[in-house]
Amino acid sequence: MNINRIGIIGAGTMGNGIAQVCAMAGLHVSMIDVSQAAVDRGTAALTASLERLVKKGKLSATDMQAAAARVSGTTSYDALATADLVVEAATENLDLKLRILQQIGETVPANAIIASNTSSISITQLAAVVPHPERFIGTHFFNPVPLMELLELIRGLQTSNETHALALGFAKAIGKTPITAKNSPGFAVNRILVPMINEAIFVLQEGLSTAKDIDLGMKLGCNHPIGPLALADLIGLDTLLSVMTVFYEGFNDPKYRPAPLLKEMVAAGRFGRKTGSGFYTYS
Ligand code: NAD
Repeated sequence: MNINRIGIIGAGTMGNGIAQVCAMAGLHVSMIDVSQAAVDRGTAALTASLERLVKKGKLSATDMQAAAARVSGTTSYDALATADLVVEAATENLDLKLRILQQIGETVPANAIIASNTSSISITQLAAVVPHPERFIGTHFFNPVPLMELLELIRGLQTSNETHALALGFAKAIGKTPITAKNSPGFAVNRILVPMINEAIFVLQEGLSTAKDIDLGMKLGCNHPIGPLALADLIGLDTLLSVMTVFYEGFNDPKYRPAPLLKEMVAAGRFGRKTGSGFYTYS
């Protein structure tokens, strides 16, 4: 089976990024959102991102136009009737995703692969609501999608070897490097990354070091490109708290308890860059 036509549900941060990399790789993309305004915002972000690549000399103007022409934005799920692969990249909400997946399942051809870009919801649980759960897989892209090389594939309990092999081929065809994890809270990457950031917050809270020195220590001593507290501000402390809570409740293990300082910061509305204040202040 060749993947040529892709449907993407959600034209937000991740959806339009996934649409961009697929279109640049020659795939025909239908990008679907709930309102024309959301579709237009996603299309504008995608166009601006392509234009930046042209300005940097990484893409020719002709290739840019060809890639943009391969993306059609719509509010109708009918566009999925000929899709080989559908990637659900809508808002992170379980009930919403279950509803969307049922709708996708009713529209796509029987042999289509359905994937979700969820960062925290169980792939096994999502797979259970589509007609062919063996043809369902997690495709966890990283933000910003056009720049980040990794694609983390998550196999639900039901995911078949054939579906996994097709997803590996898709990852390589769009220029990403895949890794594979089994379904579990946080999959592989966030399971390691988010508790590390949480531990950095404990180190700060216990007064062992300053935010600046913790970040400098991890940059110079561990070769991280950005310190964990600066990264926390970038991701959003509200998001980190909700991911730690998923781990804490999902594993029932106190080692995943969110740092009290993280809870305090979120209660104070200091979410990081998006609110102008987190472990650092932003103007
Ligand atoms: P976002 O809020 O930027 O975009 C979500 C989009 O989904 C919105 O445009 C919204 O209108 C649309 N949507 C909502 N209901 C819909 C429906 N019924 N049909 C079609 N579209 C609908 O969110 P995002 O950051 O792009 O996140 C999308 C998914 O990707 C989430 O599952 C998130 O956990 C995951 N993710 C996000 C990141 C990140 O850094 N932002 C990284 C990895 C994975």
